[in-house]
Amino acid sequence: MYDFDLFTIGGGSGGVRASRFAANFGAKVAIAEGGKFGGTCVNVGCIPKKLMSMAAHYHEDFSDSVGFGWERAASAFDWARLIGAKDKEIARLNGLYAAGLTKAGATVIEGWAKLVDPHTVEVNGKRHTAKNILIATGGTPSRASMPGAEHAITSDDFFHLSAQPKRAVVYGGGYIAVELASILHGLGTDTTLVYRGERLVKEFDADLGRHLAQEMARKGLKMRLKTTIAQIAHNGEEKVVTYADGSEQSVDCVLFATGRAPNVQGLGLGEAGVAQAANGAIIVDEVHRSSVPSIFAVGDVIDRIALTPVATSEGMVVAEYLFGKPGRTTNYPLVPTAVFSHPNIGSVGLSEEQARASGATVRVFRSTFTPLRHTLTGTGEKALMKLIVDAQSDRVLGAHLVGADAGEIIQGFAVALTCGATKAQFDATIGVHPTMAEEFVTMREPVAA
Ligand code: NDP
Repeated sequence: MYDFDLFTIGGGSGGVRASRFAANFGAKVAIAEGGKFGGTCVNVGCIPKKLMSMAAHYHEDFSDSVGFGWERAASAFDWARLIGAKDKEIARLNGLYAAGLTKAGATVIEGWAKLVDPHTVEVNGKRHTAKNILIATGGTPSRASMPGAEHAITSDDFFHLSAQPKRAVVYGGGYIAVELASILHGLGTDTTLVYRGERLVKEFDADLGRHLAQEMARKGLKMRLKTTIAQIAHNGEEKVVTYADGSEQSVDCVLFATGRAPNVQGLGLGEAGVAQAANGAIIVDEVHRSSVPSIFAVGDVIDRIALTPVATSEGMVVAEYLFGKPGRTTNYPLVPTAVFSHPNIGSVGLSEEQARASGATVRVFRSTFTPLRHTLTGTGEKALMKLIVDAQSDRVLGAHLVGADAGEIIQGFAVALTCGATKAQFDATIGVHPTMAEEFVTMREPVAA
């Protein structure tokens, strides 16, 4: 009696995963996307960011190589060539996403969709009925407000800048701010990170934010903490930033990295009766069902944890619940994550502050050391590693690090924590020598409480 078993609105990580698996389970699926397939992650997030972060790392590699006997490479960086190469790879991924859906048997509809009622979606003036509707419309950058805020760009614009700014202010202290400031600085832009708070990436263990700020400053990135922007003026090609203390700074680019909000504008959620939180996020239960039984939602639009692998996990939960074998849920407390700042952060489980707040008696193991590479580079870069252990059960509650390839390192430790590993099991694990990661299995003395 319906056109489709599942109609998905949004072709990003969560929507595509749910649609592909639902179709593979035999459901009749349609998916509508008004922009490019792949959503934030592929187009203006994880993928272009990581490619540009890799590009930025070369700068440091060239100078580090001198300590290993190389003559300093004469290097000139071509922004347009990087953006062109990145765009080509992203176009390839856009195609793969769409092709994967078609191959699975889903109907792909290009256009912006909106809800008409709990079982009807309208796209390009045409109505489609569905037994179930999945909203996976993601998020969108939020702008700080002040006079002249319109002169600032957001991460959406950053990835398409036609020229590299010579001087830039990045505003914010979260994931996007530290990543994009690191990229700009690494590529040679005179970059100032401006943050209203004192501790960067404040949702992480406090030691990580402090260590990251020290290392970023050591690399030469300018930092203005406890500072707010009062106004941005446009003066020819320049942007003039006025800070709350009255000081001014002229730059070519002001980049806001001041958070993201659920993408719910024009979706017709009110008309369909879908309950939303104060920030617009769709409220869902553990199988992602909204207040309207036929409407589900996953990913950044539900504002739980805005990470691609979380959205894909949530998409799987919906596909399996509706068309496969129900029972799967997302393991939110043990979602590992990496911040691709320079240096990187890797983290899984509870921070020291969260563990203490939970009432647990904790033993904390912390090590700050010079990684082998930097014994010859002479940069003074230090890595930080930290384990949070429940004193009663001996279980490792959290593992955190700041250092090269932190994301690669933390993935394996996330498996250990998911298996409920104890500190004794960490201690019984043989290290891989000489690596940074071995420090996680060789820390023996807890720091004083
Ligand atoms: P975050 O919430 O991480 O950080 C937002 C920052 O902007 C905070 O430092 C916040 O300050 C500041 N801010 C917010 N509003 C204002 C304002 N009005 N004026 C001045 N400063 C303001 O958001 P992001 O946009 O950086 O990232 C969004 C999400 O995207 C992340 O939480 C993460 O889930 C995901 N992401 C993941 C990445 C990864 O996996 N590597 C990379 C990038 C994004 P304060 O701290 O004081 O509130």
